[in-house]
Amino acid sequence: MIKAPLFLLALLAATAAAAGTARNVILFIGDAGGIPTLHAASIHGHGQPQALFIQHLPHLGLMDTSAADAWVTDSAAGMSAIVTGQKTNNGVLSQSAAAVKDQRDGETLQTILEHAEQRGLSTGVITNMSIADATPAACYAHANYRKKTGEIFAQLAQPRFGDGVDIVIGAGRKAVLAGTRELGIDIEARLRTQGYVVLDSPAALSAEAPRVAALTDDGDFDPRPVVARAIEILSRNPKGYFLMVEWDMHPTKLRRGLDRVLQMDDIVRQTAAQVKDDTLIIFTADHSFDLRTRGGKPGEPLLPAEPAASAPAAKPNVRVDDGHTGEQVLVAAQGPGAEKVHGFIKNTDLFHVMMSAYGWTAAAP
Ligand SMILES: [Zn+2]
Repeated sequence: MIKAPLFLLALLAATAAAAGTARNVILFIGDAGGIPTLHAASIHGHGQPQALFIQHLPHLGLMDTSAADAWVTDSAAGMSAIVTGQKTNNGVLSQSAAAVKDQRDGETLQTILEHAEQRGLSTGVITNMSIADATPAACYAHANYRKKTGEIFAQLAQPRFGDGVDIVIGAGRKAVLAGTRELGIDIEARLRTQGYVVLDSPAALSAEAPRVAALTDDGDFDPRPVVARAIEILSRNPKGYFLMVEWDMHPTKLRRGLDRVLQMDDIVRQTAAQVKDDTLIIFTADHSFDLRTRGGKPGEPLLPAEPAASAPAAKPNVRVDDGHTGEQVLVAAQGPGAEKVHGFIKNTDLFHVMMSAYGWTAAAP
């Protein structure tokens, strides 16, 4: 009596695999990398629009990024929506919208990274920002305010599911060490007892390390070898992995922001060549930014030569105010489950795109 249903279950599982569920998901977040910024970066780097690899991924959607309490999101609420499937208030990390910023906790929301840990997959978070900054933190921590650096990073060593994030690479080393020390925690010692190789530079990452925490104070490291090695490490888990790679591209410093778009575009291209067809790759932004291309023409550099001429400049081709904006951002994807990325979607939908790509429902496995 028992054999038949078990056999059917096995058959269903095999059918699901054949239908193309993803073993791995890699989520690339261009922080502030909205469509206007991608457009300007393509012209800046390639002399023409739509020349980014990201812009040629096969499945595209337009994603609303709003927070629960505002049309314009910050990185905390923006990323929380993407990784938990629920909108929350600006400043809040992966807690429900019942949270009051810096005052009261909301309900703790299980993130896609925690779902992966719960099911025995390997996980990683890589960023050129502080590892305790909003975008990476929303993956592994829950806090009513994004600025609680020590409390946030301490949660990395107290995972709610599995053995916690396996690959931890980012900047903000001094701040997270100071923040955790204030709470009486020697975080590096604690991470070592949990099997992490603790490094002070992402460049020192070896593909042999089983678990790694590599923190630096210099976010300008070369992401290409780091992401490639991280994928090698994560790929050893036959159950698969979840990896989030954030590259900050706020164009507040315009040239640096656009160069970082090109850098991230290279990482996505390299990753697409590295992984097999069992991997869902998604690129999106947590929110857009108020950059506008207002001039320029083919054959001329989009940005003025550096250093800026002392003569009074003509109006620049690209104008930047100083803030996030609320319009839709690009979601681009390839791999199993990528076909669900189309049309206008919400930031919360992306969580379900990833869950269903793995073949999971939100109920405990
Ligand atoms: Zn952001």
